[in-house]
Amino acid sequence: MIYIKNNEIYAELLKITSKDNIKKNEPMKYHTSFHIGGCADWFVILENEEKIKKLVLLCSTKEIPLYILGNGTNILVKDNGIRGIVLKVNLNSVKVKENENENENNVEVTVGAGKKITVLAKELAKNGISGLEFASGIPGTIGGAVYMNAGAYGKEIKDIVISTKYIDNNGSIHIINNEKQKFEYRKSIFNSKIGVILETTLKLEKGKIDQIEKQMEDYSIKRKNSQPIGIANAGSTFKREKDFITAKLIDEAGLKGFSIGNAEVSTVHAGFIVNKGEATAKDVLELIEYIKKQIYIKFKKEIHLEIEVIGE
Ligand SMILES: Cc1cc2nc3c(=O)[nH]c(=O)nc-3n(C[C@H](O)[C@H](O)[C@H](O)COP(=O)(O)OP(=O)(O)OC[C@H]3O[C@@H](n4cnc5c(N)ncnc54)[C@H](O)[C@@H]3O)c2cc1C
Repeated sequence: MIYIKNNEIYAELLKITSKDNIKKNEPMKYHTSFHIGGCADWFVILENEEKIKKLVLLCSTKEIPLYILGNGTNILVKDNGIRGIVLKVNLNSVKVKENENENENNVEVTVGAGKKITVLAKELAKNGISGLEFASGIPGTIGGAVYMNAGAYGKEIKDIVISTKYIDNNGSIHIINNEKQKFEYRKSIFNSKIGVILETTLKLEKGKIDQIEKQMEDYSIKRKNSQPIGIANAGSTFKREKDFITAKLIDEAGLKGFSIGNAEVSTVHAGFIVNKGEATAKDVLELIEYIKKQIYIKFKKEIHLEIEVIGE
């Protein structure tokens, strides 16, 4: 519930950051890989912890809803947009701590939550630091990857996280270890909206630059051969289930290429829904419901969303 008027919100936001970092009625389609979504009432980009703390406190004291955005690659924003403030976390620092014992290969890398994984993976590779190759093609941020426990090729972010620093909804800072982050398949403690992830420390190791780059290139080729490229999407729409691969069932149900409005089940990978151009969230949601129903009718199986649906 918003108790303060728009001009008051703007005045408060100006105490935190410059007007260039504050946007009113910002179309979320500009900030999501689906290229779909109505406007956020307020869209704020913040680049340090102090400012993020001020914003969190503003939102909690004034009861303004706060939504945290990474790179927008796992979300579907509804057509009427998001009430309150969307925070784009722009923390991009990378701190490398090598083990002082020369015989040990361990390297601890502490990364700001807004850092894009694709960029980080390339920087680490150039510096001969191995361990993030599996995630090098995931188009989200470190914060989004921790929140989702993102994974690929048999590995998940939980396998390399040592600890994560976050600010809770009352403005207190915490650093929690891997176990306390309660990682599960595409899930972590952060799904309970406990706060804003600020940075994460990863357990990596020294490696050979050419081997790391070769591994990343192999993964990249695999992705290009199996996923829709050059067309807007938000990755896998549905989670894998314990006893079956959801995308396989969608394919077996003959749904590849099936569309509602401009939302289509990818002809390349049945697990992806693509935006053929100007699709609405309504199109995507109707398609999701249609797919769920068909899978239930044909296989008596229930399937669950991997993407997060937000807004109104
Ligand atoms: C082409 C394509 C391929 C993909 N391949 C994979 C894959 O192989 N494996 C995989 O796991 N995923 C994949 N994804 C999905 C997506 O990239 C991941 O889930 C990614 O981790 C989402 O990160 P993001 O920064 O984009 O998060 P967003 O989509 O911006 O947000 C996702 C959730 O994280 C929360 N969040 C983000 N940052 C923070 C923060 N700092 N603090 C608190 N909460 C935060 C948001 O509030 C939201 O709830 C793919 C997506 C696309 C488009």
